Amino acid sequence: MDLNTPNIDIPFYQPAGDEIEVFEHAWKNRLPLLIKGPTGCGKTRFVAHMAARLGRPLYTVACHDDLTAADLVGRHLIGDGQTVWCDGPLTRAVREGGICYLDEVVEARKDTTVVLHPLADDRRLLPIDRTGELLEAPPGFMLVVSYNPGYQNLLKGMKPSTRQRFVSLRFDFPEAAREEAVLRGETGCDADLARRLVGIARALRALKDQDLEEAVSTRLLVYAATLVGAGMAPLPACRAAIVESLTDDAEVAEALMEVVAATF
Ligand code: ADP
Repeated sequence: MDLNTPNIDIPFYQPAGDEIEVFEHAWKNRLPLLIKGPTGCGKTRFVAHMAARLGRPLYTVACHDDLTAADLVGRHLIGDGQTVWCDGPLTRAVREGGICYLDEVVEARKDTTVVLHPLADDRRLLPIDRTGELLEAPPGFMLVVSYNPGYQNLLKGMKPSTRQRFVSLRFDFPEAAREEAVLRGETGCDADLARRLVGIARALRALKDQDLEEAVSTRLLVYAATLVGAGMAPLPACRAAIVESLTDDAEVAEALMEVVAATF
């Protein structure tokens, strides 16, 4: 496939290195994939892009601390006096030979590892206790998980017995030219605006002494470019899309706005 030919059915993704190749090899060889990296750096978009490229259905689950194995596998639902089994997203992906993407997998309840482990190693099995089924994943199936190593406390980190079942990719914020290309590709903004916004992001990411929980993400830059593209002036657009999303502290916000003001 010609990488340079835009395809409207495939979500835009600007690669950083060999991640497309790694994903394709992992999928062809039936290996599960773990993607680690900060929030808003393109992990979800990458998986959507790859699923479309490979022509596989994609089931994405945003994991949270109440997410149980039953949420992934399925449950019996009662309706009209009848009990009906309803597949969860993981089971659907296995049945259809699709890709199941578990975003922020370390947030999920511990009991999910019981279903993920046999699927993530060479058995590729999904036992469904409640129906007595044992599904063998077809060749098209792939398990992809992600997490953000930045804001996990030690207790929540991924256990070695889980992470060593996966091929792993590290994602990070893109270098300047690539991040500018992302902004232009996503929003159609001009090169000058993309360069300025990426300049702001780089300056803010370098501010180590500001007590920010997370660095500014590419996602927030996309928001800023979108607001400017819609006609907002750059300063209020950056305040709304970038600065106020990064901090609740009014003084820190003003310090960040100084960085923005120095650019526009
Ligand atoms: P994550 O899953 O890492 O939190 P996302 O994949 O949702 O982040 O990315 C957030 C947004 O940033 C996307 O919706 C997209 O607009 C943009 N983005 C980030 N990186 C890229 C990239 N490499 N190519 C295209 N868009 C990107």
